[in-house]
Amino acid sequence: MDSKVELLGLSIAELEEFVVAIGEPKFRAKQIYKWIYQKREHSFYEMSDLPKDLRYKLDEIAIISIPRVLKQKVSLDGTRKYLIEFRDKKKVETVVIPQSFDKSGKYSLCLSTQVGCPIGCSFCATGLGGFQRNLTYYEIVGLYLTSARELKKKIRSDKEDLIANVVYMGMGEPLLNYEETIRSIYFLNDAKGINLGQRHITISTAGEVSGIYKLAEENLQVTLAISLHASNDELRNELIPLNRKYPLTDLFNAVKYYIDKTNRRVTFEYILLDDINTNKSDADSLIKLVKPLLANVNLIPYNEVDNIAYQKPPARRIEMFYNWLVSGGLNVTIREEKGADIDAACGQLATKKER
Ligand code: SAH
Ligand code: SF4
Repeated sequence: MDSKVELLGLSIAELEEFVVAIGEPKFRAKQIYKWIYQKREHSFYEMSDLPKDLRYKLDEIAIISIPRVLKQKVSLDGTRKYLIEFRDKKKVETVVIPQSFDKSGKYSLCLSTQVGCPIGCSFCATGLGGFQRNLTYYEIVGLYLTSARELKKKIRSDKEDLIANVVYMGMGEPLLNYEETIRSIYFLNDAKGINLGQRHITISTAGEVSGIYKLAEENLQVTLAISLHASNDELRNELIPLNRKYPLTDLFNAVKYYIDKTNRRVTFEYILLDDINTNKSDADSLIKLVKPLLANVNLIPYNEVDNIAYQKPPARRIEMFYNWLVSGGLNVTIREEKGADIDAACGQLATKKER
């Protein structure tokens, strides 16, 4: 199997090279590309507009290895979590989250960029499990194709595309796997393929400053989300070890540069941890940091994780913190909790325990 040519992730030009090399006309490449990315088909036998003998030939010499769904869980709110396995048996979890209660409505897909994560944030289930490896761009695209296909199988819908948004908020730090992450975005965005609008894509980073500078030069229309979680270095060092390398001053210089360069509004994510980062003084310093940037703040009530001692604040405190920020002039939203009953909420993704 390993000697077969991998077609997943080849551009149309590369596919053309491949079909010509096996003695076929160039236009077959566009047909194959369409099957993979628009029709989400990875079995050559099903590619009905290719001649039968070509389908057999392709099956002998090539492969489209979209990753496999090993398990799936469905939450009461319609969120679905897939345990997905790559060719080398490494696994990640991927989540699709309904944007409304209507189950045949649109979904957001939460993509991973690494197996595990090297940053090791103290509150995150992925960080707890350590780092295994980076995903390639075509494995990231493969996660999209597998999830889209699986979703379509389960949800009866006449919509071509059930996935309306992609957030790079699954396992791993996207900007530590920079090249592959960016390449996967261009792939998702390709109008001849998956055709997902850049404005429907969000990348979340724990504050990998060198990657933020690079991203500023890409001329992409994606949304950048920064996982802030603390407004002073002392606490942020404790929560996100990467802050020791890139303290808040460096992070904010990078974000300001990014905003100046791209003219795009960024989002700051702020996990609410009971008794840790939700005092009035935390709100005040958060306002001071964020207000000059005209950014959005997304508050994320902590999703509790086994073996991690942090807790979600009571509803009253969440509301109070929200109100402080709003009266301080910030543009704030509270993330609705989805999929917590199947451990599919942010930061609950881990493959070690395989529940
Ligand atoms: N590594 C990137 C992207 C993946 S994490 C990052 O850290 O930004 C996606 C989001 O989920 C981040 O904002 C992260 O801080 C948050 N998160 C992690 N663990 C969480 C938990 N237990 N409860 C709520 N949010 C969590
Ligand atoms: Fe990695 Fe993000 Fe989890 Fe931190 S929060 S350990 S950066 S995945």
